[in-house]
Amino acid sequence: MQEYLEKAMALQAALTMFDWDAETIAPEGGAGCTARVVGVLSAEYFSAMTNPRVRQLAAACREEELDASQRAVLRTLRRRLEELEKIPPEEYRAFRELLARSPVLWKQAKEKNDFAGFAPVLEQVVQTSRRFAALRAKEGQAPYDVLLEDHEEGFPMAVLDPFFQQIKEEIIPLLRRRQEKPLSPAPRRSCPVEKQREFNLWLARYLGFDFARGVVGETEHPFTTSLHNHDVRIATHYYEEDPASGIFSTIHETGHAIYEQQVDDKYNLTLIGGGTSSGMHESQSRFFENNLGRSRAFWSAIYEKLQKMLPEAYGGVPLEEFLQEINRAEPGLIRTEADELTYSLHILIRYELEKQLFDGTLFVSDLPAAWNEKYREYLGVVPASDSEGVLQDIHWAGGMFGYFPSYALGSAIAAQVEAHLRSIMDLDGALRSGSLGGIRSYLKEHLHQYGGEKKTNELLLGMMGEPFQPGYYIQYLKNKFGE
Ligand code: ZN
Repeated sequence: MQEYLEKAMALQAALTMFDWDAETIAPEGGAGCTARVVGVLSAEYFSAMTNPRVRQLAAACREEELDASQRAVLRTLRRRLEELEKIPPEEYRAFRELLARSPVLWKQAKEKNDFAGFAPVLEQVVQTSRRFAALRAKEGQAPYDVLLEDHEEGFPMAVLDPFFQQIKEEIIPLLRRRQEKPLSPAPRRSCPVEKQREFNLWLARYLGFDFARGVVGETEHPFTTSLHNHDVRIATHYYEEDPASGIFSTIHETGHAIYEQQVDDKYNLTLIGGGTSSGMHESQSRFFENNLGRSRAFWSAIYEKLQKMLPEAYGGVPLEEFLQEINRAEPGLIRTEADELTYSLHILIRYELEKQLFDGTLFVSDLPAAWNEKYREYLGVVPASDSEGVLQDIHWAGGMFGYFPSYALGSAIAAQVEAHLRSIMDLDGALRSGSLGGIRSYLKEHLHQYGGEKKTNELLLGMMGEPFQPGYYIQYLKNKFGE
C-alpha cells in the first residue's frame, strides 16, 4: 500500500505547487496548457488513491496491529475511500464537473449582481451535496452533520448549536452597546509597496517563519499551502493605501505556516503530514494575528522598527493611536474584512442558513431575503446588492458546506490557547522582550508536532486538560470590547 500512497502524496505535492504557482507568479498565457497538465496529474492522483489494491489492503488492515500514526493514516484513508464507495462513480464524476463549472458562474453572477442567474446551479449543488451526505450518513445522522464532521471531527450540530447560541446571546448585545457610540472615520495611511514588502519579510522572520523551508509570495487573496513540512508557501498582499492590511495578512499566514513547519518529520509525505483540521489551523493563524499581533505587548517590542521601516505611514503616529486603529470594531457587510468582534456573527449567519438549506426549511430562491434579514437583525446593516450580500463568498459555489464554522471555531480555540498560555508562562513578558521562541516551542510540543494524528479535542485535552470550551472566547471578547 505504501507505494500507492507515496505516489499519491508526490502527485498531491505537484498539484499543490501548480496551485500556488497559479495564484502567484504563473503567466496568464500558460493557464490553458497548464490546466491540461493539472488534469492529467489529478487523474493519476485519483487512481493512485482509489486503486483496488489500496482498497483491499485498507479493508484488511487491523488497527490493533498498528502504531498510533499508522492508525491515523489508515483512518484518514478509510474516510476518503468511504466517500467514494458510497457514491455511484458516474454521479461523483458529474458532481466534480458541476463543481468545476459552478465557481465560474458564481463569479459572473457576482460581477453582474445576478443571484437569479446563479440560483439554479446553486440549487443543484445543494441538492447533490445533501443527497451524497445522506448516502454517507450513519443511522440517525443528519446529512449536514456528515459535512460538518468532514471538516471538523467531533463538532456536529449538537456541539455547534450551543456554541453559536452563546455567540448570539453574548456578542450581539456587546455590539449593540458599542454602536451607541459612533467611531470617527479611520485615518488613511499609505506607504510604497517596496518598503512594505521589506517590512513584511522581516516580520515573518521575526515571528519564526523558516525561510530555509518556505517561501513568501504575493497574491490577491492571501493563503498558505505546503508541499510538505520542508516547503511551506505563503502568499500575502500589499496595498499602497493600506499597509495594515498586508501586515495582518502576513501575520495570519505566518501563523498557518509555523504550524505546518513544526509538524514532526515522521509524518512527512503521509496523509497526516499537515495540520489536523481547518478549525485547528485557523486557531493558530488567528492566535498569531489577533491574540498576539494586535496586543500592546507584541508591538511595544517592534513598533519603533515599524516606524523606521514605514515612516510615510507610521512615522508620526504614537503607539497608542496605532493600537486603537488595529483594534477598531464596527459592523460591516463583508466577512473577510470583519474585525474580531463581528467576525463570528458573519459565520453565525452562514451556519444558520446552511442548516436550513440542509433540513429543507429554506429554498435557494429565498436565500437573498433570508441573508439580508439576518444581517439586519444581527449586525444592523443590510446589503444594497446581492454581490455584497449572499454572493460574496465562493464557498457554496465550490460545494463547501459545513466549512464556515471552522473559522469561528478557530477564533474560539485561539482564545482558549491564549488563556492557557497565560496560566503557564509570562506571555506579555515574552512578547515585550521580542523573543517568541518559547511560545513557538510550546505550541510545537503540544499541538503542531502531531500533524493530523490527533484531532482537535484530543490536542486541547493533552495541552490543557480540557476539550473545547467556548466560554474562553466569549470572555476574551467581553474583556476586549466590553465597557
Ligand atoms: Zn486562515
